Amino acid sequence: MSTINLLDYNLNELSDCLVSWAEKPFRAKQLMRWIHKNNVADFNEMTDIAKSFREDLKSKAVIEVPNMLMEKKSSDGTIKWLLGVDSANAIESVYIPERDRATLCVSSQIGCALDCAFCSTGKQGFNRNLSTAEIIGQLWWANHRVTEDKENNTRTVSNVVMMGMGEPLANFKNVVSALQIMLDDHAYGLSRRRVTVSTSGLLPQIERLAKECPVSLAVSLHASNNEVRDKIVPINKKYPLQDLMKTCYQYLEYAPRDFITFEYIMLDGINDQEKHAYELIKLVKDIPCKFNLIPFNPFPNSGFNRSSRENIRIFREILQDKGFVTTVRKVRGDDIDAACGQLAGKVKDKTSRSKQWEIKRVEGL
Ligand code: SAH
Ligand code: SF4
Repeated sequence: MSTINLLDYNLNELSDCLVSWAEKPFRAKQLMRWIHKNNVADFNEMTDIAKSFREDLKSKAVIEVPNMLMEKKSSDGTIKWLLGVDSANAIESVYIPERDRATLCVSSQIGCALDCAFCSTGKQGFNRNLSTAEIIGQLWWANHRVTEDKENNTRTVSNVVMMGMGEPLANFKNVVSALQIMLDDHAYGLSRRRVTVSTSGLLPQIERLAKECPVSLAVSLHASNNEVRDKIVPINKKYPLQDLMKTCYQYLEYAPRDFITFEYIMLDGINDQEKHAYELIKLVKDIPCKFNLIPFNPFPNSGFNRSSRENIRIFREILQDKGFVTTVRKVRGDDIDAACGQLAGKVKDKTSRSKQWEIKRVEGL
């Protein structure tokens, strides 16, 4: 019998698995608590589980946690981890501490097939989906690492944003399974409001998410009309703005928050003019929403420039004057290439990069 990785299983799946081994299903809750709440990856430490069952588990299952290849800390407290997922690939997770919370930016795929013009992950092309274990393993890892890191006195993760590498809704099954583990009181117990899926707008999957696992939704809008969006977010040709708006409106019926967050990247001369702001207001008029303006993070040969501070300020003011809560994303972790859209591009190049990284290997993992 091949061994399974327990990080791949949500509570229901683990219960079913235990039943198939003729074990009591309630043990699934016990196991979930050890693994996800207590951050334990060694069966020997699970002291309230009978020794005979632990021995049995060892022969049938493993708890395979991510293998940290590199860690880089920014002066602003942001930490980026490069986690090896197989012999050829690594993914990145970014931990962002703030005064009242700690947010983890989680990856869902290696590469991405959607090829948005301004995105370095998109430029890599699509390699493969991450497994549930590889997705939830990022959260397991972050909590493990920050708890272990006494010198920083950092807090465990309170918020998750699926805004790392990849399009989460293109890896629907594994992402939803990982979300369920994040929400489960026997595991991480995060509230639905504190877990956000960011999507470029895969409409059928947004509809499924509403029914199967409604969490907070962020939509990468990035343009106020189809002409511009077709060019920078190619999936728009399949699911144009008017349909996207309808789907967002319908999602709100199920969403844990009473608004959608629209992400809007600020690209100099492309989508950042005053006329775009007014067009945007018309576009979203029926949808309770907030805007998050993201200054473009440049990468080599992207062909785009970041909007000027002045243009971003004017754009924001126009939206705010019409009553929209509008934030401008702070560029966090810029000094360690952990800012939005900077993930991944560097991964492929990791041998040369590694010289510049402070490499820390974790004993025993
Ligand atoms: N695929 C999903 C989630 C991952 S990308 C999505 O597109 O929503 C997370 C966010 O980073 C998205 O809003 C994306 O458009 C933005 N982003 C991508 N490249 C960027 C860049 N170079 N600078 C700033 N934001 C970027
Ligand atoms: Fe994929 Fe999101 Fe990047 Fe677009 S912005 S290529 S959907 S990861």
